[in-house]
Amino acid sequence: MKKGLLIVVSGASGTGKGTVCKELLARERGVAFSVSATSRTPREGEQDGREYYFRTRTEFETMIAEGAFLEYADVYGNYYGTPLAPIEARRSAGEDILLEIDTQGALNVMERCPDGTFIFLLPPSLEELRRRITGRGTESKESLARRLAAARDEIRLGRRYRYAVLNDTVENAAAQIQTILAAERLRADMNPSQFDI
Ligand code: ADP
Ligand code: 5GP
Repeated sequence: MKKGLLIVVSGASGTGKGTVCKELLARERGVAFSVSATSRTPREGEQDGREYYFRTRTEFETMIAEGAFLEYADVYGNYYGTPLAPIEARRSAGEDILLEIDTQGALNVMERCPDGTFIFLLPPSLEELRRRITGRGTESKESLARRLAAARDEIRLGRRYRYAVLNDTVENAAAQIQTILAAERLRADMNPSQFDI
């Protein structure tokens, strides 16, 4: 059985990862979303097991000790981690799985899973990134400044990814990722013997 794709979408906070991934999942019904665990408190409307598995710091640390994560990171003071077991299970069953994670996490996954499809999402500009973070209304002034400063460093690491996608409009970004996935699937399916090569 052919292994499913491990798709990693990353980029600086506020670029639009969550928004673009939601659009992508609506277009690509066969792709499963990797639900992460986090120690942050749920936002309004978020459900345990849907957006995240919400855990205490102690519970999270137990999971780390048990080796339950493919990767985990401390992102702006909270733990976030990708559970390992569902990823292995889905990929072995030939299903594609999508990880929407921060840049530290993505670099760690690159080390452990070099066969992944790594996609770096870019904002049109730092000014637009500032507008998006402010518009989302979830950050304090101090947190906004911290995220913008971190964004410069994160964007510098963008070249390590195989693909870069500009999030100018959500539709364009999702469509570009679909093109990347189509190419990756074709590459995985390629069988030279079909072509007398
Ligand atoms: P991230 O998951 O990368 O932190 P979000 O998906 O939460 O980012 O998006 C940050 C804000 O930017 C949200 O308010 C979202 O609606 C907005 N946004 C996302 N993509 C775009 C886009 N292409 N054009 C304009 N606004 C966008
Ligand atoms: P938020 O709290 O806004 O949902 O997410 C904050 C940041 O954590 C985002 O950049 C998001 O991509 C990242 N994130 C979510 N899940 C994971 C994960 O499992 N691992 C890592 N490393 N980052 C994650």
